[in-house]
Amino acid sequence: MAKKQFKTESKRLLDLMINSIYTNREIFLRELISNASDALDKRHYMALTDKDYEADEYQIRIDIDKENRTITITDNGIGMNREELEKNLGTIAHSGSEEFRQKYDTGNTADIIGQFGVGFYSAFMVASQVTVDSKTVNEPANRWISNGQDGYTIEPSDKDSTGTSIILQLREDTDDIKYSDYLDSYKIEELVKKYSDYVRYPIKMETEKTVLKENTENEYETVKEIKTVNSMIPLWKRNKKDISEEDYSNFYSSKFYDWEKPLKTIHYSLEGNVSYTALLYIPSRLPYNFYSKDYEAGLQLYSKGVFVMEHAKDLLPDYYSFVRGLVDSDDVSLNISREILQQDSQLQALRKSVSRRIKSTLVDMMIKDRENYEKFFKVFGNSLKYGVYQNFGAEKEELQDLLMFYSSKEDKYVTLKEYKERMKPDQNEIYYCTGQSIEQIKKLPQIETLLDKGFEILYCIDEIDEFTLMMMRNYDGKDFKSAQQAEAIGETEEEKKHKEEVQKSNESLLKRMLTSLGDKVKDVRISSRLKNNPVCLVADEGISLEMEKYLSQLPGDQQAKATKILEINPNHDIFKVLQKVYDKKPEQIDEYTDILYQQAMLIEGFKLDDPVAFSNKICELMKEANE
Ligand code: ADP
Ligand code: MG
Repeated sequence: MAKKQFKTESKRLLDLMINSIYTNREIFLRELISNASDALDKRHYMALTDKDYEADEYQIRIDIDKENRTITITDNGIGMNREELEKNLGTIAHSGSEEFRQKYDTGNTADIIGQFGVGFYSAFMVASQVTVDSKTVNEPANRWISNGQDGYTIEPSDKDSTGTSIILQLREDTDDIKYSDYLDSYKIEELVKKYSDYVRYPIKMETEKTVLKENTENEYETVKEIKTVNSMIPLWKRNKKDISEEDYSNFYSSKFYDWEKPLKTIHYSLEGNVSYTALLYIPSRLPYNFYSKDYEAGLQLYSKGVFVMEHAKDLLPDYYSFVRGLVDSDDVSLNISREILQQDSQLQALRKSVSRRIKSTLVDMMIKDRENYEKFFKVFGNSLKYGVYQNFGAEKEELQDLLMFYSSKEDKYVTLKEYKERMKPDQNEIYYCTGQSIEQIKKLPQIETLLDKGFEILYCIDEIDEFTLMMMRNYDGKDFKSAQQAEAIGETEEEKKHKEEVQKSNESLLKRMLTSLGDKVKDVRISSRLKNNPVCLVADEGISLEMEKYLSQLPGDQQAKATKILEINPNHDIFKVLQKVYDKKPEQIDEYTDILYQQAMLIEGFKLDDPVAFSNKICELMKEANE
């Protein structure tokens, strides 16, 4: 019998598929089962109007023959006649392959295959020979045989029932690849569960099970039984009423390997522009690798209950990358690549819709279940803040109302909206302060009088906070202002006048102090914000004190520094000491100024350049005081 050649493009695809080091070999089963399921759909549809097509039970069967190294996948679906065998299996006829070829031609290599539903041809990844025995309702059966390399043959077959059997002759094991793993019924069962659990027809196979021997109490025997290995109805397709919280969390832990219960489960279906069902989870803790490159974001993607992709990244914006779960849509093609995902308008619509739902869930939680929202925010809030910061604040409007900051007034996390609503009538800006911890910020000299005056201050203790606020610039018309910035905030006209007067009358002292500090500070000024502390540092416009600390941790020697200003409390005893010393022993001002500057640095959490010298200076002072 003459061999027929594959079309050229098919051949090239086959070569690439078989010879490439392809890691996702196991999807062959998903592909063949999905074809079988399609064939059953078609027969089922025909049977609606034509009695000849009716069948007792529509089903898929998997048989393993260890001795002969074969796996057979049988369906009693529509079947193929001779022409169809040629047309469907002799050329690459399905949608995914054309795109695949384009990718291949542009030089993209093996990895691409993993992203595609490669269809029937994937069988050759594990099989050295594939036999397709097929019969339609009214025509005789035929047998298509190919080794996937140099064409195929078709001959009449004696198959007498309608449907198709695909017989895979497994390849010989190599040092690297153990094809014989697929002869293990447990392995096959696992693959069915993983990829095809929710195919709506029963997938049956012979499995072994150990049971108590009849009429004995402790003797066991292995029996074979035909078992349906797929559950057929996915959890997410079941009625919400019938799903317990336990079902949801069991599903979550088995699927996403997190044994802690999820903080929130979101399960819904939408019909419309894109129709889909989503089952989403917000974890209650940070995945251990969340901030490493290993963390794979994205939702699982299903098309009509058939598994398509493990981590469809494009279904979620980055700032929601902590969300786990899946989306099942009838509108998504099984043959879809990661590259195509981004351009696919259906998928973009999906992403929009999913994001919208996540946001509304979070907003709802914030209003109705504040305690849990705070829990959530403590774990994943940084993702949202980072989302605001990214792309030059493009997502500000979307995310700003989800943000929370620690409030001086409430001693807990509050939203910007809440802050704005209770701002004092004469307050035009939103005040914040940064530091390493709430405790440390509470003691900062810069906020003493602000707090006394009853202003609310947002305490920012995460590195990202200040970057986020600077990117936002304002919230609902109110600018953000740092309490550690040179520009005085919450200052009355009277205070300002007084400050300027003291400044003027002490000009030469302040100048002397500035000269002695050299380029460590840009200015030495009288302050209106200090109460119990003699001095503090503030930053001029640009890099803040906290940012300087953050940037100094980054690799590289060129470190950007804040432009610092030393402020002095004119009402503090130390100021009187300075005035007195300046009068009597002006040369001592340099020492005193240096000590005060270093103290201010310590209060801000900076490291001193020479802590030993600082310590010695203090000791000298102690000695002098007791001479
Ligand atoms: P796709 O499923 O995307 O169309 P495949 O490469 O998986 O592409 O299959 C090619 C074609 O072969 C199918 O469209 C179908 O017409 C036919 N086919 C494959 N498997 C079967 C089967 N078990 N029963 C009937 N037809 C099948
Ligand atoms: Mg297919």
